[in-house]
Amino acid sequence: MLAVSGMDKALRLQWDPPFILPLAFEEQFMPLIRCACHAGFSYWTGAAAGPPDALRSGSEPPASGGPVDPSIFEEIASASRILAVQSVLDAFGHVSMRHPTAPDRFLMSRSLAPALVTAGDIMEFNLDGEACDPQGRGVFLERFIHGAIYRARADVASVVHSHSPSVIPFGLVETPMRAMYHNAAFLAEGVPVFDIAEEFGATDMLVGSWQKGAALARSLGDKSVVLMRGHGSVAVGPSLEAAVFRAIMTETNAKLQSQATILSQGGPIAALSPEEGRLADAVNLRVIQRPWELWKRSISGRS
Ligand code: MN
Repeated sequence: MLAVSGMDKALRLQWDPPFILPLAFEEQFMPLIRCACHAGFSYWTGAAAGPPDALRSGSEPPASGGPVDPSIFEEIASASRILAVQSVLDAFGHVSMRHPTAPDRFLMSRSLAPALVTAGDIMEFNLDGEACDPQGRGVFLERFIHGAIYRARADVASVVHSHSPSVIPFGLVETPMRAMYHNAAFLAEGVPVFDIAEEFGATDMLVGSWQKGAALARSLGDKSVVLMRGHGSVAVGPSLEAAVFRAIMTETNAKLQSQATILSQGGPIAALSPEEGRLADAVNLRVIQRPWELWKRSISGRS
């Protein structure tokens, strides 16, 4: 048993650092950074929305935004498992939902593979990515993606961050992603690409700070999807179901566009126009419960 637990520990040491070390780093150094800020250093750059709440409220965990119906936690956990079954999320990536009654709070899983998430894993955060009731649980390094987008976009109720593979090439080339069919209508408004190197130089490519989250949110602008160069993508929506739908359809659209590009032999691709996209997206949002119920059925019996 000692050998087994030793191996388990070795594996944990091998796999956990991307998530654990930055957290430890924050715990160790954030008080110093906060002190520096209070002493008048200009730590936050490009912070159009002002400094994070953490710098205003000290080091105590933020207060909860209020009680949440347990069925909401079930739905977020279902979303996570649906995205795993649909191969949009693998061992990494995450989905969140804005707190239903406190717009300055959001809900997402503790650091865990998406296919394993259950309702009890859902935690509450403020928009700086600080857990309201951490209980010693590990948190996702890239939670800043979510908080920054909720801060920038009052219309967004849910965010999905994935590394879904078919999308990745579109973050690397000049060819923009376009809407190939009506289910991906939300792409017809345009799909920006966030290049983390433009503002931060050579990095580990991860959105591991409030500043990087804010830069990503600026790239997203008022769109539904932003690609992340050499990393993945983010889909947002006015509901949990819509964000999940968009993340899945973005992956499908990427496959279709790659096929259309081959078939076109360099000729034009008759993608949806922005007006067609608006009209089709409105229909998709009206019938969103149909795919949602189907996808929930696909995870029944899994945990
Ligand atoms: Mn990521």
